[in-house]
Parts: sequence; C-alpha cells; structure tokens
Amino acid sequence: RYEALAQPGKIGSLELPHRILMGSMHMGLEHDDDEMMARLCEFYRERALGGAALIITGGACVLPEGGGHMFVLTNPRHVERLSELPKAVHEVGGRIALQLYHAGRYAFSEEIGQQAVAPSPLASRLTREVPREMTLEDIRRTIEGYANAARTAKEIGFDAIEIMGSEGYLLNQFLSPLTNHRNDEYGGDFARRMRLPIEVVEAVRRAVGPEYPVIFRMSGLDCMPGSTTMEETLQFAQALEKAGVDALNVGIGWHEAAVPTVQQVVPRGGFAGVAGMVRQHVSVPVLAANRLNVPEVANELVADGFLDFIAPARPWLADPEFAKKILEGDRDGLNVCIACNQSCLDHTLVKPYRVVSCLVNPRAGYEALKPRAKAARKRRVAVVGGGPAGLEAARAAAERGHEVTLFERDKELGGQFRLASRIPGKDEFLETIRYYEVMLERLGVTVTMQTEPGPDELAEFDDVIVAVGVKPKAPGLPGEDLPHVVSYQDLLMGRVQPGRNVVILGAGGIGCDVAVFLGARRRMTPDAEVFFEEQGLPAPKPIERTITMLARSDRIGRGIGRSTRWVVRQEMQRLGVNVVPNVAMLEITQDGVRIAREGREEVVPADQVVLCTGQLSQDTSWAEKLPPHVRVHIVGGARESQDINAARAIREAWMAAYEI
Ligand code: SF4
Repeated sequence: RYEALAQPGKIGSLELPHRILMGSMHMGLEHDDDEMMARLCEFYRERALGGAALIITGGACVLPEGGGHMFVLTNPRHVERLSELPKAVHEVGGRIALQLYHAGRYAFSEEIGQQAVAPSPLASRLTREVPREMTLEDIRRTIEGYANAARTAKEIGFDAIEIMGSEGYLLNQFLSPLTNHRNDEYGGDFARRMRLPIEVVEAVRRAVGPEYPVIFRMSGLDCMPGSTTMEETLQFAQALEKAGVDALNVGIGWHEAAVPTVQQVVPRGGFAGVAGMVRQHVSVPVLAANRLNVPEVANELVADGFLDFIAPARPWLADPEFAKKILEGDRDGLNVCIACNQSCLDHTLVKPYRVVSCLVNPRAGYEALKPRAKAARKRRVAVVGGGPAGLEAARAAAERGHEVTLFERDKELGGQFRLASRIPGKDEFLETIRYYEVMLERLGVTVTMQTEPGPDELAEFDDVIVAVGVKPKAPGLPGEDLPHVVSYQDLLMGRVQPGRNVVILGAGGIGCDVAVFLGARRRMTPDAEVFFEEQGLPAPKPIERTITMLARSDRIGRGIGRSTRWVVRQEMQRLGVNVVPNVAMLEITQDGVRIAREGREEVVPADQVVLCTGQLSQDTSWAEKLPPHVRVHIVGGARESQDINAARAIREAWMAAYEI
C-alpha cells in the first residue's frame, strides 16, 4: 500500500482525501462546440470517478491575447461553456480547479489575431515572432484580467484556481532576466521582475476572498542558461506565500529549453529534488509532476518530504483510474504512462492540432464517443499476433464481453515493444506489456503461445483480428547477405554481439534507437560507476566502438514525434554517433559499405552492418482463405506498413475490437 499518498491533505480551505491530483493538460477539446464539450466533460468525469483528489483543467486565458485554441474568460459564451466542467465533475463527487493562463510571447499571432505581448520585445524559439512590449496600461489590464478570471472561476463553481506561472509563460517571462529587459517598476532587479506575478496573486486574492484555494504554478527550474537563479526562485516562492497562495505547484523547464523534462530519458521522479528545495523554504503545500508515473516512486518522494501532493497529467491519460488503483494497491492493473508523448504532447505540436489521446489508452479523449459497454452479442474472437496491437485488440474485445483467443508465434508477448524496451531509457515499454498480460488474464483471454493458427483453426471463430505487424525490409543492395550484415532485431535481442566498427543503414526511428543502443551500451551500469567512484577505484573505460549512421536524406529520426526527436538527436550526438546524411548506398562489401555522396564514391569501413531500412507488412494473404462467415479485421502494420507507429497500430486495434 502507498501510505504516504493515501494520507488526506489540504490546500487552503480545500480538504482533499489523498495526495494524488491530476495536473493540467490541454486536450484539444476546449471549443465552443457541443460534441467537443461533451467529450471534455466525460474525460474529466471519468478521472473524477477514477479517484483524482483534485483535477486541474487545461489553461483558460485570462485575456484574448493570452493564447489561441482555448477558452477565454472575457468571452461570456466561453464562460458558459467552462461552467459545464464543474457541473460534470461535481455530479460524481469530484473536485476541479481552473487553470488561469496567459502565454505572453509564447502566443502565436495568427491564433490570437494580434501581435503577442511580453515584458520585452524578444522573439522566442517557439514562435519566432517578436512580441510587443507591454505598456503599464497593458500590465494593469493583465492584473485586472487575472483577478476577474479568478472571480469568474469561483462564481461558476470551480473549487480552486491555479495561476499558470511556469514553463516560460507570461508571468515566468516577467521573472526571468532572459525575457524581461525592462527598466521600469516591472523590470530591472529581481524585486521588480517579480512584481507582476506578486501583484497578480494579491489581486486574485482580493477578488476571491481569503478562503478560496489559490495554487500558483511556479517554475522551479527554467532549464535556460542565464535565467532565474535557484536563490531567486526560492525567494520568489516565499514572496508568493506571503502574497497569499495556498499551494505551490513546481513546474520544470521552459518550452524552448534544450533540456528534456518529460521524455523517457528523464528518470522517474528525476526533478522532485527541485520541489524539495522549494518545500524547505515555504510552509504551504508543494505539488509537483514530471515523470511521476508510478506509485512506488511518488509515494517515497511524499514520504521523504520532497513534496506534499503529486499532480501528474499524462498518467491520467494512460489510466483514468490512476488514483483509485494506487489507493487500492492495484499496481499490477495500472496502465503506466511510458513518457512516449506520441499521442499526447506530439498531437499539440502539429498544425492543425490534433485531439490529445494516449498511445497505451487510445480511448482517452474519446470516452463520450466510445462508452464502456458490452457488445449486444457475445462473439468468438481470434486475435493473431501478440505485439502491442494484438494485445490491445484482445483486451478491448474481451472488455466488450467477447470470448477471445490470442495467438502469438513467439515465446513472449510484446512484439516491437519488447524490442524497444532494450533501448537504454525505454524500459518503460515493459510496463505496457505487463499491463496487457495482467488485463488479458483478468478478462479471461485464452493466450496460445508459439502458435501460428491455420485456416481450419480460425474457421471456428466469428471474427479474426489480424495484428501480425511488420517485418524488416531488406535494402536490396549487393552484399546484403554477407555474414556481418545483421538485422536490428538480432542485435537488440542480444542474438548477435555488437561489432567494433558498426555502420547502421537507415536513419528512421529504429536506426536512431539502434545508434543509441550501441552508443550507450558501452559503459558499465550507473550503479557500478558510482560504486567504483565511491571506492576510489579507477573507472574502466567504455568499450571502444565506432558507430556510423548512413542516411539517404538529412531527415534524421523521421517518424519520431517532435517532442522527442530533438532529444534523440542530442543523445546520439552525446554518444558520439557519426551521422552521414544524403548518401546513396551502393553496395555492402566485406570491409564496409560503398556509398556515393557529393558526386564521389567511397567505402565507409565496417565490421558489422545493421539493417534499419524500413519495414514491410507481414503476409496476411492466408486471411483471404478463411470461410465467409469469419469477419476479418487487419490492423496496424499488417494493414499498412508505411509510416506505421505504435500509436496508429494500437488505435486501429482498439477501434476494430470496439466495433465488434
Ligand atoms: Fe504517456 Fe505516451 Fe500516453 Fe502520452 S501517449 S500519456 S506519454 S503513454
């Protein structure tokens, strides 16, 4: 049991039954539209039923220039729409706080219909647009905007508010010397740089009265060289407390920072030490998130006094019963967020924006459209393939009440996820396999391993979901059958040892994974390194290995989502991977790979060549031979290998199973 998380707590006057909150995230559903609102209400309602002590909504703008694609609290129609959220959550006994938001220089002018505003006219890496410097009148209007927004939130039934002041948004911009170059009463020394956020809090407090819970989301660490120092951050936290906040939510990293804050490379609970520092300097409760995805880590951090409440967001996409399962001690049944960002953050980084969902829970965001209901008639369903898509298909079909048999030809379930879990920093994928294994057992799915069912066997079923995935595509080069040419599967699964001078053919997601695998797995484990250091022993040098990646174009990491691609590239650079872009591959020889580039031919030396040259759908022609009474559903990579990724494969599998 997770006793520390199970303890009741308080934020101001708000009594909370335990320490597990749901942090703010935008769903892409925040529109004045009946269907979108129904989906948003149902999304939050399910999380309230799933035990969230308090839900913090995605941000709502305090003024029209604060950001696009979200509700604006000066718009009466939007206020009316927002009032539906507390109603939905209160109906099921939940609590909900509204986040008050202003993006400042992070707002896109085409979305807000005007030039963005900021403390100083400095472009961000995010928008590359120069904002307009705020006048004193703008500042006065903004303070009033926050106060009015807070009053409105209270009036329409929200249980609390959170003022968004981290991640590099407007209030954070005023605090930082990087973005605040003013030399008036709102810029200059630190006291003046923090004046606006403090005046906002004071105005909000006056507007909502002494009892109404106010949370401030402050930046604990900007991850921006030259920005606010830790000493200033702690001073700011104390000033916020004095100004009247009831809790501090400690955010990490600006959106334009070059430090990963939410990707898989970030260790679980890796930033909690920052919240711990803030907590030592204030007496109000401290909240934090960032890779707090599993209860064993979160519980210890609360127990050890680093923070008072956890307020993660993405884990609630992955499992709508995040708190309920933790409080019931059902760790096995928890669908853990694996920090892939593929269906959540990445959906907000494309234009047009896509509704946020979750790779491991494709129903997230679609709760109102796909209610959990049993199918009208129980059918016998076979799922062929035990990779991620097959696992989801089997789970979803069984949840619908069907009698399900899963066939897997390998010795283990998990397919591409098991391969991916071998990449350093990607062992989170094992959580998903574990979750599915537990679910299939609980739902009574018959799992038949090391079996490739024939047409006769499958003819006994009403529906067959074909989720056999993909197989590697050979590059079609002379020499590709030479003994030192290996597949990425054999390498990752340890069936062949890495060479000393390795050339990777292909620079897509798999090629990058292989490069990181080869680069990182040259050292001892971090624990062993610490042990050597503590014992004063000379640390053994990493194994020597040259890694060269040959790419047909300069699009390295194509297929990896925008939130993660730069992290992978950065990691490859750190590991010394030599990337050669824009080459034509001509031949694999005994000694290397013959290529042409910039009009010249050369041989890149190699004692091992790893093929990461794309994938083809597995053969599914056998499905055509099934008798007509069997309905066949081909999903994921087996249906279309072009640009296949886990998110699409799992979503298709879920949809197919749901429709049966
Ligand atoms: Fe977590 Fe990935 Fe789901 Fe996002 S898509 S919530 S990162 S598992």
